Amino acid sequence: MAKKRVAYFYDEDVGNFHYGPNHPMKPHRLTLTHNLVFNYALHKKMEVYKPYRATYHDMCRFHSSDYIQFLRRVTPQNTGQNKTLNNFNVGEDCPVFSGLFDFCSIYTGASLEGAVRLNQGVCDIAVNWAGGLHHAKKCEASGFCYVNDIVVAILELLKYHNRVLYIDIDIHHGDGVQEAFYLTDRVMTLSFHKYGNQFFPGTGDMFELGVENGRYYSLNVPLRDGIDDQGYANLFKPIMQSVVNHYQPSCIVLQCGADSLGCDRLGCFNLSIKGHGECVQFVKTFNLPMLVLGGGGYTIKNVARCWAYETSLLVDQEISSDIPYNDYLEYFAPDFSLYPDIAARIENQNTKQYLDHIKHTVIENIKCLTGAPSVQMQEVPPDFMCLESMEEQEDPDGRQEDDPRFEGEFYDGDHDVDKEDAYVEV
Ligand SMILES: [Zn+2]
Repeated sequence: MAKKRVAYFYDEDVGNFHYGPNHPMKPHRLTLTHNLVFNYALHKKMEVYKPYRATYHDMCRFHSSDYIQFLRRVTPQNTGQNKTLNNFNVGEDCPVFSGLFDFCSIYTGASLEGAVRLNQGVCDIAVNWAGGLHHAKKCEASGFCYVNDIVVAILELLKYHNRVLYIDIDIHHGDGVQEAFYLTDRVMTLSFHKYGNQFFPGTGDMFELGVENGRYYSLNVPLRDGIDDQGYANLFKPIMQSVVNHYQPSCIVLQCGADSLGCDRLGCFNLSIKGHGECVQFVKTFNLPMLVLGGGGYTIKNVARCWAYETSLLVDQEISSDIPYNDYLEYFAPDFSLYPDIAARIENQNTKQYLDHIKHTVIENIKCLTGAPSVQMQEVPPDFMCLESMEEQEDPDGRQEDDPRFEGEFYDGDHDVDKEDAYVEV
């Protein structure tokens, strides 16, 4: 297969945000990941960009304006008087921390720029390990996610692509993305995740299939504790193959949450680094434009190993199993291996019968797709940004309000948002 042109987005500020002392989500994992990518010299195989920063308006393409306005204004200092915290599900899992809006702006901007570059055909694969925050909802934060960069990026891809396939291998259900596109056939969502015993977020059983035009365009593969590489691949590959055959996407968004690895602080699967990477490698074989994103991952040394390894797969560069000398070498003790033994710590509760049953049911549902939907585009929205304009960074804190492009459509404080309306019209 011909080598792919890979665009990689990294902002060196992104690892310096802190959710709080005991919070499992550690943006520092992004610094560790980039450090490995760099010390494996993978940056020489791709185009590395400091990404665009998403603005309030970019975020409001999916989210409600009052929610984004809140994210923009809230600080650890003013949360005391802020009675709206609960309205937006901000507090414990999703704390208010210093620089919260900038953090969202960085990870969302990178996914959005990745989508723009894919649309313009200037790269084949766009990688943003800081993105993939799949739980965020239109009007509220959820599961350590505030702004849903995935939905924002897919909305951009839909300007050029009739059918976008979203795949999610995080251990948690990709509920925010599924919900956004639950009514449409233009985005197919496929999530593999742990389901049962009230595991977060509690959604994603096999019978959530989408509604109206979206019926059969949401697919879920609910798994039990302890799934291993072989069991996972035996489901992932035939299901993916079947989805691509029936749906015929023109573009793929892959969320690579690394909390599905064995030994994850919050997870309960037994995937190895190579087993997780095999999914990425398999998706790449379809030869479609791909937006590759991060997601969960709470044992940060393994998150860095996993995403560095997956970067090497995307650029087709074999790398040594010995971790190279780097600024954070002590994290990788005692083995200093890219592939530590992290599998088989949790009993595998996925019997062969169970896995056969879900494979059969999911593939039967895929056969209900009535052929790839075609789209009559009445009016294609204009490109929100062009690559040149991304080079002049806008002030992330709202200077764009003066931008004549937005005249008359800026947020009105009294604007009423219907919270029931969580879906996106596409
Ligand atoms: Zn997760």
